[in-house]
Amino acid sequence: MNKILTYLSFPEMIVFWIILVVVLFLVGIIFYFVVSPWNLIGLIVGIILLIITFVFCLKNVIKYYQVLSERDQIKTVVSNFTDAIIGYDPNFKITIFNTTAENLFDVMATSILGKTISPEWAKNEKTKILTQVLFPSLAPSMVWRTDPAVFPNVMDLSFSDPVLEFTITTIRVTNAKGKILGFFKIIKDRTREEEILKSKSEFLTVAAHQMRTPLSGIKWGLETLLSEGNENLTDIQKDLLKKNLEATDKILRLANDLLDTVNIESGKFGYEFVQSDLLDLMSKLLEDYLSIAEQYDIKIYLEPPADGIPPFKFDPMRIRIVVQNLLENALRYNVKNGQIIIKVEKKSPYVEISISDTGIGIPKNELPKLFTKFYRGSNILKYETEGTGLGLYITKNIVEAHGGKIWAESIENRGTTIHFTLPMDEKLIPKRYSTSSPF
Ligand code: ATP
Ligand code: MG
Repeated sequence: MNKILTYLSFPEMIVFWIILVVVLFLVGIIFYFVVSPWNLIGLIVGIILLIITFVFCLKNVIKYYQVLSERDQIKTVVSNFTDAIIGYDPNFKITIFNTTAENLFDVMATSILGKTISPEWAKNEKTKILTQVLFPSLAPSMVWRTDPAVFPNVMDLSFSDPVLEFTITTIRVTNAKGKILGFFKIIKDRTREEEILKSKSEFLTVAAHQMRTPLSGIKWGLETLLSEGNENLTDIQKDLLKKNLEATDKILRLANDLLDTVNIESGKFGYEFVQSDLLDLMSKLLEDYLSIAEQYDIKIYLEPPADGIPPFKFDPMRIRIVVQNLLENALRYNVKNGQIIIKVEKKSPYVEISISDTGIGIPKNELPKLFTKFYRGSNILKYETEGTGLGLYITKNIVEAHGGKIWAESIENRGTTIHFTLPMDEKLIPKRYSTSSPF
């Protein structure tokens, strides 16, 4: 009832009120001048007319009321959105400017709404950043995250004075006929996030670097003691030194893995692609691992293709890390008297390398997490405490930077095969890596 009373007060009901007055007036005249039954017929016609007008007006009012409340809801969402939102028509006339946008650009909505922005506005310090957001080609650094021709599109904008990092999503608004009515820009301010990430990776870089130098010194000292002063040492002392050397190696590996991970994430992990012999690299690497495999009573077999692999372009230092990581895993997560088969096949234009072991395997439901940072299998955690879970993350990044793919097959308690491919055609190496400067 209350709702109906509210509806009656809407201006859209004016037609009904006018018709009511007219009908009352006419009914009065009819009753005064016209005899029965025509005056009664007139009254009925008047009432029907009133009812029709009332229903018609009420329908309009309800529709209008719904549109209004939907508009208010959208307005509330837009103004309370934690990202800045700017709406503008195809001529860059500002139609929406929410509170976050006011704070981000230090410009009041009242002073910008209805104004048409042009690139000239970039000359004014107060509106410089805002103009560069609307005309990104004016910004100091712009990187597209998606195809610019497909809406909504996403780009990253960076500014140096002041330091700002934005991710901007642009939405195009069209009508049913496809006519462009305007655009929305949703601006996510990542400045603080980037600062934290930067300081975190700087901290890790410095810590890992600082650790590496003294550790290399300790390693060198221990190696010298073991090789040169050998005859003066008792077996217990030698054993102790060997254990210390192993522990130093582990911390050095960890420092290197942390540095590699930080560099991968900040895009500083460079590559040097040179024409190299993959089979030569692998057989040399295998020699280093044969004695370790013997300790574990594990046999390693290399199965190269009968007609060999012609030299092709890859980064031998990085691919050495890949094979090393995969071999170490195949040894570490294997069983006593187990075996490892390294198969190299030509699958033009790629080479596929598969490393199979007869080890403990990876739980099926954990396979999707295998190549993620710090993943360690739930089946190994109880008895194999060593390892950081960075090896396969780094491995995947190196393979993908070469334009290859890496994937795994595994059956728990039966074994694991990790496959990876490398393109033999250098055109398949992603440009951003093949042209990057060596570390
Ligand atoms: P590190 O960084 O020293 O290599 P890690 O070996 O734990 O440590 P990854 O090489 O990334 O790290 O491997 C991640 C996890 O994947 C391992 O902890 C293990 O649970 C599982 N895994 C990897 N390779 C194998 C394998 N061949 N067989 C069984 N589990 C494996
Ligand atoms: Mg590993």
